[in-house]
Amino acid sequence: MKPVSIGIDLGTSGLKALALTPEGHSVAEASASYPLLTPRPGWTEQKPSDWLEATRQALGELAGKLEAAGYTPVALGLSGQMHGAVFLDAWGEVIRPAPLWNDQRTAEACAEIEAAVPRPELIRRTGNPAVTGFQLPKLIWLRRAEGENFARTRRVLLPKDYLAFALTGNAATEPSDASGIGGLNLAAQDWDAEVLAALGLRSELFPEVIPSHGVVGGLRADWARVTGLPEGLPVVAGAGDNAAAAIGLGLSSARPGVGSVSLGTSGVIFLPLERPTPDPQGRIHLFCHADGGYHLLGVTLAAAGSLQWYRDRLAPGVAFDALMQEAAAVAAGSEGLLFMPYLAGERSPHLDPDLRGAWLGLSLAHTRGHLTRALLEGVAFSLKDVLEVMKPLATIRQLLAIGGGARSEVWLSILSAVLGAPLARTPIEEGPARGAALLGLVGAGVYQSVAEMLEATAPEAQAIPAYSEPAYAAAYERFKAGFRAVGSLARGA
Ligand code: ADP
Repeated sequence: MKPVSIGIDLGTSGLKALALTPEGHSVAEASASYPLLTPRPGWTEQKPSDWLEATRQALGELAGKLEAAGYTPVALGLSGQMHGAVFLDAWGEVIRPAPLWNDQRTAEACAEIEAAVPRPELIRRTGNPAVTGFQLPKLIWLRRAEGENFARTRRVLLPKDYLAFALTGNAATEPSDASGIGGLNLAAQDWDAEVLAALGLRSELFPEVIPSHGVVGGLRADWARVTGLPEGLPVVAGAGDNAAAAIGLGLSSARPGVGSVSLGTSGVIFLPLERPTPDPQGRIHLFCHADGGYHLLGVTLAAAGSLQWYRDRLAPGVAFDALMQEAAAVAAGSEGLLFMPYLAGERSPHLDPDLRGAWLGLSLAHTRGHLTRALLEGVAFSLKDVLEVMKPLATIRQLLAIGGGARSEVWLSILSAVLGAPLARTPIEEGPARGAALLGLVGAGVYQSVAEMLEATAPEAQAIPAYSEPAYAAAYERFKAGFRAVGSLARGA
């Protein structure tokens, strides 16, 4: 028998499924997409039935490929978009479309939460303030805006946990995703009865919290029939997308301080921790990791997304590599030109959806190379803003540079010099589905613990030589001063 574990990533634009060998090699993939609904400005929703249809398609395709190649699935692990809310009635039926992580309808609900539980107390207990995207404010919103739907709600599930419920008939969650709800006590890794009571909510609304490698149940016969996967296949709880991606990269809270920095569409710094140490001001997130520990998470909304916008609008048709060469020819500091990368508002550490971007200090002497380099530097400065908040909370030993922007040598050298943290490269590109499949291997008993699995499957990281550039100390101070000076002016109308 050639065993494989299947991992699913229930993303915002689509679902990806892959199969990994016990050694962590990917042998087959399949994907399917679904629409994003925006019924009103600021609202984002998806139909859970669309997720199920995509799951059926992708798992059916994957099962066919595995059978043809002689592989036997031994587990199915889940990961996906965090924070969404699937409201279920007494019969387990979906009550309304699920508001997603990036939905903005909950400002009043967040104020209601922080009126019931003072912000410092909320941060101390749950790791975070009341954040618009989180699940708990969505439930409070439902109570305020759709009282009838709230009265019918017997259970609220996160997206990937709803998928597990559909596949097995059992409801459960796990700490990494549950800590993004807003009602989980981080130290206990279980529901905070006092926070929920202060909001007048029963903890029975939320499912049992099991370990990330825990088995939620066996694959139901009807799903086995439509996908071709074995009935009773253990479905493993898995992890939220960031934690799952980190498991795939081998990031463990047993090696605190070895994290990742992503130059993807958004910029993300993920840093594992042994103990839950929140930023007292709540400027970055603190969540549970999928290995029993914790992690800090900072998200800047436009990282490589800024470069994509810039190339498409101002240099259409020009290859990224060509733009990078022009930027490399400009001196560090872009001769005084600064770029504020807040094209889509910001999350960490300046939580403000209305912030907007800017170039500051433009002169007739500046060329396209200066504009590009300033953009790369500005993104690095905004990630440094996140790292500066993390520094008092954790030791930072090494950051794996990932995402499309990490393909660029010049951007990596800028990031290295600006962050002043050791960077490394990793061969892994599969994202959250890989981590979900790896947690599946633990749930199926192929490995005895998450630690043992990480030991066996963590890819070798290759250190990137450190760059130092004295000009960036002063440029970063100007960036911060620029933010203070024009941040409030450069807001969207
Ligand atoms: P996502 O977060 O959406 O998965 P990716 O991690 O795939 O995005 O990153 C895609 C982005 O990476 C592109 O928008 C572009 O800005 C950047 N990128 C891709 N190739 C290069 C390159 N050779 N040099 C610099 N940046 C690049």
